[in-house]
Amino acid sequence: MSVLAIIEHDRGTLTSASLGVLTAARNLAQQMNTTMEALTIGANADALRSVAAQYGATVVHQAHHDALTDFGPEAWGEAAAQIITSLSPQLVMGSGTERGHEVVAQIAARLDLPASMNCTEFDSSFDGTQPLKVVRARWGGSLLEQAEVDAPIKIVTLANHTVEPTEAPTTSTTNVIDVQLDASVLHSIVRDRVERVAGVTLATASVVVSGGRGVGSAEAFAPLEELAALLGGVVGCSRAVTNNGWRNHTDQVGQTGTRIAPDIYIACGISGAIQHWVGAMASKNILAINLDQEANIVTKSGYAVIGDLHKVVPAVSAEIRRRRGV
Ligand SMILES: Cc1cc2nc3c(=O)[nH]c(=O)nc-3n(C[C@H](O)[C@H](O)[C@H](O)COP(=O)(O)OP(=O)(O)OC[C@H]3O[C@@H](n4cnc5c(N)ncnc54)[C@H](O)[C@@H]3O)c2cc1C
Repeated sequence: MSVLAIIEHDRGTLTSASLGVLTAARNLAQQMNTTMEALTIGANADALRSVAAQYGATVVHQAHHDALTDFGPEAWGEAAAQIITSLSPQLVMGSGTERGHEVVAQIAARLDLPASMNCTEFDSSFDGTQPLKVVRARWGGSLLEQAEVDAPIKIVTLANHTVEPTEAPTTSTTNVIDVQLDASVLHSIVRDRVERVAGVTLATASVVVSGGRGVGSAEAFAPLEELAALLGGVVGCSRAVTNNGWRNHTDQVGQTGTRIAPDIYIACGISGAIQHWVGAMASKNILAINLDQEANIVTKSGYAVIGDLHKVVPAVSAEIRRRRGV
């Protein structure tokens, strides 16, 4: 009996969401008076054993099979389901990412168990003997639902950016498990990928400078690019921008875009509609630049400049350059 944390990675590169999962799973294991164990999928993730130990996993189970080199939801789900069947943990936690949700949905379907996705809170009195009360984010985060997971194995995902990762180093043992996979689980496997040559991604950037309809055109994003570059950040946008074809969907922040959690979010000419806000609300500091002091994003942000972004953004960049003497 244990709590099992599923570590998400891409060819051995850990996702930051996994650290939150390890932390939350460890916290639950402590209150349940049991151990937190971790599961890595594919031999190229074996090196993540030390990270799992650093975050408190007492055993790291390593699922091995040639078909697990690259991500494939059915193969990963089947491998995890086989291991869960043999280990019988009390609780299984995956990450609240697209991949994490796919794998956990596959596990739940294969084991014929319910799964509760995108949990933001867990009952602090849960000791493993009763149904698990959770709060989970629904409808893109605009609704928080209280739910109870009543099943022999509680299967959940942790909503991204809800738990601050904290280390709790321990000594761990390794358990290599060769799983059996047949051709029926090899339908979708990542075969090719576009590698980022350099720079940070929207999801992990510490500074995001976003533009909305108020920017006015694709070309008018140049000053936002400049400000982002000065701050070592990236450019994001609202859906009005992607709908207009000014920027790619990969830059979109929000319910149907990327959820971000930068240290600083600078929202320029964005009204802050709920579908945008749910993707930006985990930002630690928000600066809104908007003509409208009643705009939703202005009322929710910690800092605001009421003015024309076409004047304010270049002025901010000029001030940064002046202070740096460049
Ligand atoms: C199912 C669904 C999913 C959605 N998913 C997303 C999503 O993932 N992300 C997302 O962003 N939206 C999403 N939307 C769309 C969302 O509802 C809004 O329509 C969209 O976010 C509005 O974009 P905006 O703020 O850029 O534009 P607007 O709402 O038009 O706001 C423009 C803002 O710019 C300001 N402004 C104008 N000119 C200037 C200027 N010169 N200087 C300063 N300020 C200026 C205005 O005062 C205004 O506040 C979704 C909608 C639906 C129905």
